[in-house]
Amino acid sequence: MSFDRIKGQEVAVNYLRKTLIRQHIPPTFIFSGTAGTGRLLTAMTFAKALNCLRLSDDACDTCKSCVAIDGGVHPNVSVIGIGNDSIGIDEIRNISESSFMPINNKYKVNIIDNADKSTMEAFNSMLKFFEEPPERTVNILIAENVSLIPETVKSRAVELKFKPLSNEIVMEILLAQGIAKQSAEVIAHLSKGSLERTKLYTEDAALEKREQFLKGFLKFLRGEGSVGEVVALWKAFHKRDIDRENVNLLFENIADIIDDILIVTIMKDTERLVNIDFLGHLADGFFAFSRGKLEQIYEVVTNGKMALLTNANPMYIMLSVLFTIREVVDEHF
Ligand SMILES: [Zn+2]
Repeated sequence: MSFDRIKGQEVAVNYLRKTLIRQHIPPTFIFSGTAGTGRLLTAMTFAKALNCLRLSDDACDTCKSCVAIDGGVHPNVSVIGIGNDSIGIDEIRNISESSFMPINNKYKVNIIDNADKSTMEAFNSMLKFFEEPPERTVNILIAENVSLIPETVKSRAVELKFKPLSNEIVMEILLAQGIAKQSAEVIAHLSKGSLERTKLYTEDAALEKREQFLKGFLKFLRGEGSVGEVVALWKAFHKRDIDRENVNLLFENIADIIDDILIVTIMKDTERLVNIDFLGHLADGFFAFSRGKLEQIYEVVTNGKMALLTNANPMYIMLSVLFTIREVVDEHF
């Protein structure tokens, strides 16, 4: 059945099923956790189960109601915020005004994706709506950074935490998508528990491009090659403009590489590696690096990520971080 298709989130799923069995549904939820861990899928499945014409504690996926929800045309279910950078007051007004008496004597379900990216006016409008929710209305806020949601909103909601998926579960899903076993294993480690992240590596030749970037960057860390070469390899890997998001991703990649080198050379706990297929390369030449040097590079990258949060030029921040890393590499200590 439908809830069974959600992998690795037993705590959240069991809680939701219990509310269905008891027919005691809290009016407001927050589904928190990293993107790509099943938050939206779970919200949609719950919306279907609340409106299913056949089952009372799951979604059958075949009745008129389930099919209409999957097709995005059921009047009882509204989804806003998907892919949005910001949610405004008008979107919240729309859903609160459309929360009239739901059809079939079932539930009106409002799913607000990226709820943490709402404007203050939108949060205030939500709060008014949540204070006196209409009967048979369920609101589900999906958020990565719960600390951005005002306490007044949070205190009216039941928060269900979605944890990162295990490598085994990610691998199982990738194999079901037809990805070859060897690639699936590498991608599962790179995913850090998020199916969203796997998309970066399942595209055509993405793994090969990543391999070239990684080899080039490790060379750069050993004091060979130039900043320009690293930038070119990164661009080839991602085939897109150097914007804030892209530079942030580069910094995350570099932080993962430094983490991995620390794991291989100091902690020797290879199970935790992100770049599992680079085990040999990560050790090669880095035992000579002092831990202090690696930590200094990590700090340069962390500062770069902070700088990206301000309105400075992402290209400039990227170059300045790479040149500073080079200086640290070339220092003798
Ligand atoms: Zn159904």
